[in-house]
Formats: sequence, structure tokens, C-alpha cells
Amino acid sequence: MYKTHNCGELRSSHIGQQVTLAGWVHRHRDHGGVTFIDLRDRSGLVQIVANPANPNLSVIQDARSEWVLQVTGLVRRRPEGAENPSLPTGEVEVDLSEVVVLNPSKPLPFLVNKDEDTDENVRLKYRYLDLRHERMQRNLVLRHKVVKFMRDYLDRQGFIEVETPMLFKTTPEGARDYLVPSRVHPGCFYALPQSPQQLKQLLMVAGVERYFQIARCFRDEDLRGDRQPEFTQLDLEMSFVQRDDVLDLMEGLFTEMLPAVAPHKRLFSSPWPRLSYQEAMDRYGSDKPDLRFEMELYDLSDIFAHSGFMVFQNVLRSGGVVKCIVAPGCAAFTRKEVDELTGLAREQGAKGLATLALTAEGIKGTAQKQITAEEAQQVSARCGAQPGDLILFIADTKAVANKTLGALRLHFRDRLALADLSMMAFAWVLDFPMFEWSEEDKKWDAAHHPFTMPRMEDLDKFDTDPGAILSDAYDMVCNGYEMASGSIRIHRRDIQLKVFQMLGLQDTEIQQKFGHMLEAFEYGCPPHGGIAPGIDRLVMLLADEPNIREVIAFPKNQAARDLMADAPSMAAEKQLKELHIRVQMPE
Ligand code: ASP
Repeated sequence: MYKTHNCGELRSSHIGQQVTLAGWVHRHRDHGGVTFIDLRDRSGLVQIVANPANPNLSVIQDARSEWVLQVTGLVRRRPEGAENPSLPTGEVEVDLSEVVVLNPSKPLPFLVNKDEDTDENVRLKYRYLDLRHERMQRNLVLRHKVVKFMRDYLDRQGFIEVETPMLFKTTPEGARDYLVPSRVHPGCFYALPQSPQQLKQLLMVAGVERYFQIARCFRDEDLRGDRQPEFTQLDLEMSFVQRDDVLDLMEGLFTEMLPAVAPHKRLFSSPWPRLSYQEAMDRYGSDKPDLRFEMELYDLSDIFAHSGFMVFQNVLRSGGVVKCIVAPGCAAFTRKEVDELTGLAREQGAKGLATLALTAEGIKGTAQKQITAEEAQQVSARCGAQPGDLILFIADTKAVANKTLGALRLHFRDRLALADLSMMAFAWVLDFPMFEWSEEDKKWDAAHHPFTMPRMEDLDKFDTDPGAILSDAYDMVCNGYEMASGSIRIHRRDIQLKVFQMLGLQDTEIQQKFGHMLEAFEYGCPPHGGIAPGIDRLVMLLADEPNIREVIAFPKNQAARDLMADAPSMAAEKQLKELHIRVQMPE
């Protein structure tokens, strides 16, 4: 070993010991001929001191930021008044005797001893330097702890970790596949798994009963928002279980994990709230509601059933709804601020936004003239609006009203800081519809994935009312994010076939893509179900980071590029030839 101790572990108990350390020059300063260096390794920092009489003074004086040094010296107590209580090693320093420069460093493109606002593209290009930041090191350690906790917990519960292939066949989760050309089978491609879904189900057929994997998933999506082309899930599957068995297991895992890996976070409620999909949409305008604050949506359709406000009337007559949220203390919003909110509402597809402001001088707002005092009274009573509040109304189809008010609710969460940042508000969303109608393709899509079990009592609706079929799917949500999706699976060939057909797949396509699943179901497939929490997002929330790139060692940027290695990149002509591929560039 190049070192006898780690920099960050030296304490007053080491005083008098000769130690050898190795690490990076974190900071370097000269004070009247005495040279100080903060030497850093993964464990932290310690101060190294060289006096003017030190024969190695020039070596240490020449050392610059991020040079790699090996240092030997005596641990001693810092002189009185020179202690640094904010540093764990702050009581001691190392009196330098020997120093070896293991490797110098060029000046860095950005400082790593400070958190600066460096352009993310530069950070990603030099990710190996960016990861030297204390914050990034902390994130890597936290991620390790989370994954280790999961492994240990599931091991105690009788699960085994099984690796499944990366080179596989299409496993639909609603995205495009990444394809890998085969050299030995000209014209054929593997697909990288969008998740190990089929494989874990086949492991249930194989009698594994309790499987998990820290699984990499690949999804070629247009990178909207905070996504990565590859990401990691805790993928899990169990045999002979029903929905609540899976939910209970997850609730236990995350409830125990929180104090162990992130003691600064608190569980918002235990047991976790359970909402039906419809309830989540109706009350919070989202299928991944943030429950850390209230601000619920209220349906006012009955109050305005006979209203003279024509806009509301027309919407209600054509089967729509009038709903509202209450923005606390926002009655004094200016015209401009209300216009901005209207803009946000329009972005969500709403035709407009009406407001009532409960001011000290009476009721104001854009709908003041159209809404009677009595109606305003009834509205306030229903939604508990107080003087000083601003009521925001959307009259539209139920779907648009929910979506719009849901988005406005989150806007106010951030604007008014309504959510307690130390809370983890886990909850379950249940009773999802099985199918969603795709206007674009004019066909039914699987709301979760095609292997989800429809409710047994809804089986007869396949031919009559597919939109009304509920599934045995469940989502784990937290703080407005979807943290996991899961379901009880189809284990019967006849039902699986029916679902594929419902999704518009032809028999030959079903056979080609999923023949192996249908066949497996004929050999004694046990009832089974599972779930797959996303690890990146979880660690992001626990680390209080704004996006998942901060908790992934080597992420792609938002254009799906690796800026450090410059991937993807062109392949050599020879490679393409071997793969039987000719590239046709877009115009
Ligand atoms: N395969 C699903 C997903 O990736 C999770 C599951 O149903 O277990 O979302």
C-alpha cells in the first residue's frame, strides 16, 4: 500500500504516530515561509505542514492543485487557536518529513475544491474530475448504500439475485428498442431489454419464486425531461403472491431503508396512503400526486349547474366539469401574474382560466362579474378558501381540468414552497385502467405493459368496453414522482393471447415476438407479480439533487450523448461491413 492511513480518519488519538498518506492536493497555501497543504483522499482531508527548515520544502511548495502526493510525517496536535472544528481531522496536522510526487496534474478546467456553477457540458466532458467534488462523492456513496441495503434486505426475505441477458429480444415498456446488430446472423438484431420483464416472469416459470436484480434498462425515447437512455431499476418478481404481498414487501423495504441510508429524511405517513388512479386524478390532478401538501382539486359542477356564467354553462352542458384549486395568500396577484397562470393553463390544453380573489375590499378576479355572491360563498365553503386566497377555476373536460389544475398545483408548490423538503411522501396508486386509447394510432395501448393481469371480474368487458377494464397494476409514487410500477401478471395463456389481440397484434407477430412467453405459460406457470423501483430517481430524492444525472457516475447529456468519450460515434467501414450494415445518412 502507498499509505498507512486514510487522510480523513486521523484524530487526536493518532497524535505521536508516524503515518504515510497518499492523495490529492486539495488546497495549498503559504504563511510566512510555512507551507500548508490539505491532502485529500476519498475519506476526507487532513492538513500537512512543512516548516521553512524542512529539506522537502521546495517539493511541497511546487506542488499544485490536484497533484498526487505520498506524504510521510508525524501526527501532532494543531497549535492552540489553529483548530478547525468544522473538519473531522481539525484537531491534528501532519508534520511533513518525506514527500513523493506520484503524479503532477495540469491545471483543471474547473475547481474541485469548491462547488461552482460550471457548465454541465464541461462537467460531463471531464466527469472523472467532476466526480472528485465532495458532493458527487457523497452521491456515489449514498447510491452504493441504497443498493447494498436493497440487496441485504431482499436476501433476508429469501430473494436471490439472478442476472438476465442484455442481448435479448424486444421487451416492450412503451419506448423504442436499442438494437444490436449480429455479425454471425446477417440482418438479425438483438434488442437491449427495456426491462427484464419477460425474463423475470420466465424465472417464475422456472421455479425461482423470489427473484431480484439491480437491472440496467435501455429505452430509446425522445429525451423529454429528466431521462437517461439507460437507467437502473431494482427489478423484482415473486410467485404465489397477490397485490398486497408485493406492496407490503416494498413498504417494509423503503420504510427500513430511510433511517439507515438517509436519516435526514422523514417518512410522511405510515402506513403509506393508498389511492385509486381515479381518486389521484380527481383530487390531485396527477397519477403521481405529491402528497406533501394539500391544495386539493374541488369539483364545483353542482354549484354551477344553473349558473348564469355562460362559459361554465356550456362546458357543463357538453359533459364537462368545473373544478378549482385555492392558492393560499395569493389574492393580491397582479393582472400580469394571473395572465402568466392563464398561460400555464393553456400549455396544459385548457381554453382559459377564471379566478376569484378574496381580498379585504371584497371579491375580485377575472370571474368576479360572472359569479354571483352566493355561488362564491358556496365555492369558498366547499374548498375552505379564506380571505386573502386566490381561487383558480378551470371549466373543461374532466381530463383537461384535472391535468391543468394538477400542473398549477405543482406550480404553486414550488412558488410558495409548500412542500417540506425533508419529507418522503410515499404512496400507492392502484386500480389503473388496463388499456389506454391512442388517438394517434387509433388503437388500444397497454397502460402498464402487456403482461399485466386484468381484473378477473372485468374479463367479460374485453369485447364490450375495453376502456373500463381495470388492471392489477400499482404505482409507487413519492413527492410527485413515479418511483416504481408493478403488477400482478398474467399467468394464463388464454388471457395473455386476448391482451395481445386487444393491442392489435396479429397472430404471426404475437408468435414471432412473444411465442416463447405463451409457450412457457403452458408448462405450469405459477401466479406471480412484481415491481421495479427506479434507483436513479430514488437516490436523486434522497440526495436532494435536482436531476438524475447527478447520481449517475457517467450519465449521458440531455441529447443522449456521452460527452467524455464522445459516444455515439461513427463506426469504421470494416466494422460495418462485418455487421452487414450500410449507413444511409438522413438528408
Ligand atoms: N417492467 C416494469 C417496468 O419496467 C416493472 C414491473 O412491472 O415490474 O416498469
